[in-house]
Amino acid sequence: MFDYLIVGAGFAGSVLAERLASQAGKRILICDRRNHIGGNAYDQYNEDGILIHKYGPHIFHTNSHEVFEYLSNFTQWRPYEHRVRASVEGQLVPIPINLDTINRLYGLNLNAFELKQFFDTVAEPKDYIRTSEDVVVSKVGRELYEKFFRNYTRKQWGIDPSELDKSVTARVPTRLNRDDRYFTDTYQAMPLHGYTRLFENLLAHPNIKVMLNTDYREIQPIIPYREMIYTGPIDEFFDYQFGILPYRSLRFKHETLNCPVYQSAPVVNYPNEHPYTRITEFKYLTGQEHSKTSIVYEFPRAEGDPYYPVPRPENTELYKKYKALADSTPDVHFVGRLATYKYYNMDQVIAQALTLYQQLVQKQVLEVAIRH
Ligand code: FAD
Ligand code: UDP
Repeated sequence: MFDYLIVGAGFAGSVLAERLASQAGKRILICDRRNHIGGNAYDQYNEDGILIHKYGPHIFHTNSHEVFEYLSNFTQWRPYEHRVRASVEGQLVPIPINLDTINRLYGLNLNAFELKQFFDTVAEPKDYIRTSEDVVVSKVGRELYEKFFRNYTRKQWGIDPSELDKSVTARVPTRLNRDDRYFTDTYQAMPLHGYTRLFENLLAHPNIKVMLNTDYREIQPIIPYREMIYTGPIDEFFDYQFGILPYRSLRFKHETLNCPVYQSAPVVNYPNEHPYTRITEFKYLTGQEHSKTSIVYEFPRAEGDPYYPVPRPENTELYKKYKALADSTPDVHFVGRLATYKYYNMDQVIAQALTLYQQLVQKQVLEVAIRH
């Protein structure tokens, strides 16, 4: 008898498997319908021996000491600060928009104080910031919004930023200085030997059995377990009974080129050209040295594997119905980006999993106390 059947071997499932096995002595069966562990953070060496991220670029960053310390038990790190350029009007300029972005785009020589004045003259103040359009237009005005955000967002999400929650474009700040890092978190680093190795270490405990190529529905009726931890899409779990929750998908086009370097930055965003949103060159992320280089294009689409929950009011309402059902489903715990329908980064999913672990331990202490 397994104590837990964990559905999905991404960060949510693997962290819980590790904690429950190593700290609480539980017997765990973790399954994934894919043929590998790691969920969307999975990486692999391609046929040329270059480490690539199968499901697009994954850069680890967090302000949480607890999350960083926790993961450090399972990997060494390579310090890495991510940088992105946007292709706008024939130039590759820093995004997040900063002092250099504006000076290069408009041929100016502003200082930080003057840039603040510039933004003040072009910004369109709003009483209430509700949408992804409001966030940007209220800070940097309509022209920059249209150059950097409007078309990228329409491509990525299939809807206009005015129909998306403010939280989406609010992920990308605006800066008055020359800091061109994509993130400013306290901890920014890549797993030294890659994500898949990190996951192998998470799942190495003898109490953890891993079953790949296995949808939980195939084994649920035949394998005895006490409780389930579910990290797949929540609407699918409940057979879409309230309707489909939209998840945005991507098609990844991987290429290896016969040259050591392809582009001048780790990621180049294409807000206004091409059907893809961005190109990532992996060697910048991994630090690998190789005579060839591997890149990936991201083509957004509606159909396909669920990658992004779509933050907008009607989806939040629909999710609430599923959440109510989840809350009244005994002995199944929903956790992770798909099961809680949250546009979470890896560190947020790890924090959510560590919190659930604490709750499960407390629940058990209570149950034991009640029995005695
Ligand atoms: P997942 O990794 O999706 O794992 C869920 C697993 O459950 C999947 O492997 C799936 O196959 C399995 N599953 C689902 N249903 C079933 C079933 N019925 N039976 C068996 N198995 C099932 N985060 C960052 O912090 N930094 C980044 O740079 C970053 N970049 C990203 C880029 C892209 C293109 C995407 C899509 C995401 C990115 N993320 C990034 C977010 C990150 O991928 C997620 O936060 C994290 O992987 C979520 O982990 P999870 O365990 O919740 O879900
Ligand atoms: N975004 C944009 N232009 C850019 C970069 C981002 O419009 O050059 C918007 C877009 O809506 C995107 C969101 O900001 O989906 C969040 O960007 P992020 O880079 O965090 O996306 P992710 O890495 O999660 O795909």
